[in-house]
Amino acid sequence: MKNYDVVVVGAGPIGSTFARSMAENGFKVAILEKKKEIGVPLQCAGLLGKKIKKVNILPDEFIINSVNGAFLHSPGDTVLSVSKSKPEAYVLDRVGYDKFLAELASNSGVDIFFNHKVANVDSINGLVSLKNSEITKISGNVIAGADGHSSIVSRSFNLPAESFQAAQYLVDAGEKRFKNDFVHLYVDSKISPGFFWTIPLSETTARVGLFADANYQDLTMHLNKLISKRPELDGVSILKKYYGVIPKQDSHKRLVKDRVILLGDAASQVKPTTGGGLIMGFTSAEMASKVASQALEAEDTTLLENYSKSYNDKFKKELKVQIMVHKVFKSLSNSDLEYMFRKLKEEGAEDMISKFGDLDTQSTLIKEMLKQGIIFSILPKMLSRRLSSLWK
Ligand SMILES: Cc1cc2nc3c(=O)[nH]c(=O)nc-3n(C[C@H](O)[C@H](O)[C@H](O)COP(=O)(O)OP(=O)(O)OC[C@H]3O[C@@H](n4cnc5c(N)ncnc54)[C@H](O)[C@@H]3O)c2cc1C
Repeated sequence: MKNYDVVVVGAGPIGSTFARSMAENGFKVAILEKKKEIGVPLQCAGLLGKKIKKVNILPDEFIINSVNGAFLHSPGDTVLSVSKSKPEAYVLDRVGYDKFLAELASNSGVDIFFNHKVANVDSINGLVSLKNSEITKISGNVIAGADGHSSIVSRSFNLPAESFQAAQYLVDAGEKRFKNDFVHLYVDSKISPGFFWTIPLSETTARVGLFADANYQDLTMHLNKLISKRPELDGVSILKKYYGVIPKQDSHKRLVKDRVILLGDAASQVKPTTGGGLIMGFTSAEMASKVASQALEAEDTTLLENYSKSYNDKFKKELKVQIMVHKVFKSLSNSDLEYMFRKLKEEGAEDMISKFGDLDTQSTLIKEMLKQGIIFSILPKMLSRRLSSLWK
């Protein structure tokens, strides 16, 4: 049986990043990955806030496009235009980036085993059992479950994660159609609390998608409808179709048990409002790496529990706000949304959103909107009160 200090399940971006960090800290690390090729099929819009450069290495070659702003569309097409003077987000080649992160891990000394599907984890003894593989068991003093939304590792001590479904097309307009430094986001109560997006890769091509609490058939129907009614998408050719899963935020999820920790989608580390997971996942991988290194050095795995604490200290408040925003959105009808957009436009909120809006941290904007009284003019009293109570 092979023995490692750390065994990571899943060579997604978060698993590779955590594994690299542990290897750089001097530990013997293995990644077990069920696929034979990393990163495929693409299951991401690849839109990442500029913070990405603070939380992980991102060479320019993986940035397809830079985005300065967004057109936010109401159901009746009242449009709020929000932007910053500098790039606020990047559109990534996610497949290339996932492969790059795994390569970095490998260059740091991590052993990556492809075609190694984990079937079971014994959290007390640190034993990972494999399915259909020559090696049947691998042991690790610390096991990290970074095996995505349907995590086997998480299921060994948590309930199965609930999730949203997502669908996305790669489209080609055949002519210059997209303002390539602006994304379009469209809300519609039929898919709330999810939303639609058009994320340009260039002036002619874009990723068009949505996430929602719906099955793939309904997602496809909604997406096709969006394409047929939006002028910027009129007559586009669909080059590829992708489907994926976004875990729902679960504040009761345990992140640590015995020798096991969870990371990334396996830990439901996604922003409730946007479904984006990379920045939270990378930030958590860094926290986990610090804690796991201390636990291994001290030969005391009870210290792993400090990872849950660091995670809560960092994210609990923001997640609470985003979960509340999500709930509020879900409760609004299309006429409520329309009213809200018109009111925001009338009150000059585009400037405020441009100034305080942030793809990753929405509490700053909500707090400012409460301070300036805008929330009270766009939402029913009961909902505004619920939002403002988060700061009491
Ligand atoms: C349509 C869509 C659009 C998205 N858009 C964005 C976006 O714009 N920005 C953003 O930040 N996030 C976005 N996300 C979310 C983002 O893709 C995820 O948060 C991210 O991929 C999580 O990374 P991860 O490493 O935790 O998991 P994953 O990327 O899912 O990697 C998990 C790895 O574990 C492997 N694995 C699974 N089970 C086993 C097993 N039993 N044994 C061994 N290996 C296993 C898998 O093969 C996979 O390689 C989007 C998601 C979807 C579906």
